[in-house]
Amino acid sequence: MPFRDVIGHRRLVDLLARAVSRASLPPSLIFAGPDGVGKRFVAAATAQALNCPNITAGSDRADACGTCSSCTRIARGMHPDVLIVEPGDNGNIKIEQVRDVVDRAGYRPFEGKRRVVIIDEADALMPQAQNALLKTLEEPPPSSVFLLITARPDALLLTVLSRCPRLRFRPLDAGDVAAAMIRSGRKEPEARAAAVLADGSIGRALEVSAGGVMDARDVAGRVLAQAASSDDARRRLDAAKDLLEGTGGGNSAAEDRNQVSTHLRAMASLVRDVALLSTRVEKVPLANPDVKEALGRLSAFRGERGIRAFSAIDEALLALEKNAGVKTVADWIVLQL
Ligand SMILES: [Zn+2]
Repeated sequence: MPFRDVIGHRRLVDLLARAVSRASLPPSLIFAGPDGVGKRFVAAATAQALNCPNITAGSDRADACGTCSSCTRIARGMHPDVLIVEPGDNGNIKIEQVRDVVDRAGYRPFEGKRRVVIIDEADALMPQAQNALLKTLEEPPPSSVFLLITARPDALLLTVLSRCPRLRFRPLDAGDVAAAMIRSGRKEPEARAAAVLADGSIGRALEVSAGGVMDARDVAGRVLAQAASSDDARRRLDAAKDLLEGTGGGNSAAEDRNQVSTHLRAMASLVRDVALLSTRVEKVPLANPDVKEALGRLSAFRGERGIRAFSAIDEALLALEKNAGVKTVADWIVLQL
């Protein structure tokens, strides 16, 4: 997983590669950005570039070979100089975990060039644990680098934030997410369909595809077809039950919201494709080319109605993000279509 294998984030990766080759990488950095966009992957690539003995000499962008013993052990999380801290079973990173890596970071690396401490989900650091880290972030041992990864930087203490320059990771575009999915062994139609539902997150695309991207699209197609065929409020509210498919049972409220979001994103992606088909913008590829026939049945969503549906779906997604109840959202959206 050297820098050249990172999908997306070119500007950030370039920045890191140049900093490593000039030996100007700050001793502590925060990688901030949404879950599942590859922050930990980039952190591992940075650790490899700092430690690989076969580093490209003379280049202004350092990159690891990816195949030597140092690189492969870093990729597996087994390198003695690359320490990974992550939340335990209770979801927190405890002060003892921090004390342990701070102690070890004080020694020279065993075999590598730089000791790299990767703190994943750094927002899970208990306040005392953050305070324990603070002194080290102020005066880091010369051969150590601290990389704090978080999707919620605002949960960190200001004292920690102010000592670590922040790299902001953005959501990936759907093409990049699909490429990552294909690389992890998914077939292309499934990868593309999952990517458009994933909001720029590879992690989410993998979840979506495990949870059945084709199922989500099925539900979305049924709900839209129902809305297209009838204005009757009662029948539409019946369709809302379809949107709730896969919720309830042993799921948490957050899992339920995720499930309904996936259905809504599938709806948005179908509506968008219907619009594309009607405008015949040939160069823009459809997100769901394999269900062209089903798209034909949704022609009611061409033009104005499609635009309204799209913005209503967007509003519904926002409401779920703000923790609205899934049933309320499902009932509301079917009446807007
Ligand atoms: Zn290497």
